[in-house]
Amino acid sequence: MMLPTHALFGMVLALPVAALAPEHATAALVAGLAGGVLPDLDLYAGHRRTLHYPVGYSVLAGVAAVVAVGAPSAPTISAALLFAAAASHSLLDTLGGGLELRPWKATDDRAVYDHVRGRWIAPRRWVRYDGAPEDLLLAVGLAIPLRLHVAPPFERVVVASLVVAVAYAATRRVLPRVARVLATELLPGRVPPSLLARVPERYVEDADSDDPRPEL
Ligand SMILES: [Zn+2]
Repeated sequence: MMLPTHALFGMVLALPVAALAPEHATAALVAGLAGGVLPDLDLYAGHRRTLHYPVGYSVLAGVAAVVAVGAPSAPTISAALLFAAAASHSLLDTLGGGLELRPWKATDDRAVYDHVRGRWIAPRRWVRYDGAPEDLLLAVGLAIPLRLHVAPPFERVVVASLVVAVAYAATRRVLPRVARVLATELLPGRVPPSLLARVPERYVEDADSDDPRPEL
């Protein structure tokens, strides 16, 4: 699933806490948002492996939740929400597509790495790929309760997430072509080679599999 969906899902997890303990609503929402975003910071360094821990975050979330219930405070509630949102993100990614550049082609059998079993979990493709129409629908569905219940600063985060989600979903199918043109034609000679070397190889070596027209 795309990052805005994960961000919104993390914040939705914080809604019950915000309702039950309004004094900790801000801490819970910030932690839920951060935990929803956190795993995808590995986008360019072992994506869905380096910071995606479906089992590890779940265990930590369980322990942190027990602590938070026993001794509710901003730090304990934040820790529980952070791990719960990061666990949800890692688990939700197994319901999406694989790691391929064009996940709608369903050619890759890696969704999320399971560090406990030492192997990749296969993508279920309930949401066919990040930015798919069903992904956008999910983001909109998550935004509705948030829009109704969160304070103005978080309202802006919700609206911004939706704007990004719509833009991403609208352009998702042409992004591989844009990335390849950038990596192979526009950036070489204009940016330091050391920076260009950091572009993932799949963008550079993908010319043969590029479609003449984006599929709709
Ligand atoms: Zn992810």
